[in-house]
Amino acid sequence: MKKLVVATGNPGKLKEMQEYLTDLPWQLELKPANLDIEETGTTFIANARLKASEVAKALKKWAIADDSGLAVDALDGAPGLYSARYGKTDKDRINRLLAELGETTNRQAKFICAVAIANPDGKIVLETEGICPGEILYSPRGDGGFGYDPIFYVPSQQQTFAEMASVTKSEISHRGVAFAQLMPQLQELSRNVAN
Ligand code: IMP
Repeated sequence: MKKLVVATGNPGKLKEMQEYLTDLPWQLELKPANLDIEETGTTFIANARLKASEVAKALKKWAIADDSGLAVDALDGAPGLYSARYGKTDKDRINRLLAELGETTNRQAKFICAVAIANPDGKIVLETEGICPGEILYSPRGDGGFGYDPIFYVPSQQQTFAEMASVTKSEISHRGVAFAQLMPQLQELSRNVAN
């Protein structure tokens, strides 16, 4: 079976990708912990490309990487690439975002997830970006999920990410959209690539 290295050291992310990438003749594996790629890109897709490409080249194997975050319109796209570093804990990050938005009535925001796949030479052969539009609430709602989920409200579901059943979130989230877009191309690639 073909191997696809997930350019992350996080076993949770490997498991999540496994759930999205079912029925493919690829065996996912974690990148080695000592191979660290600095995320120096200025966009989500640039970081996903960078991680996939560098890991693929270093290991001479196929690699997949993603990069994601929350972009809030009234904050000019913040926290954006800094979503994970916006505070020490999820609670700190949420509180900072709510404080920065204050009573602003423009609550439009979107989650973005970029995914890239590189061949063993480091060449990017597939990439996509999934977006999930929503609104930032004035206070958190729901106990599920992680990160900014309790303040991210999706009008079409009338729920926050943290209130949604996880199957629903997996379908409509930025990650769900990105992987759904990627699947047909990945299936095609699987047919064309030798072991
Ligand atoms: P990364 O793509 O794993 O680097 O994630 C970036 C950061 O964006 C995470 O640490 C979260 O703060 C935020 N984030 C990404 N996706 C989600 C999501 O589905 N729900 C809540 N927060 C998210």
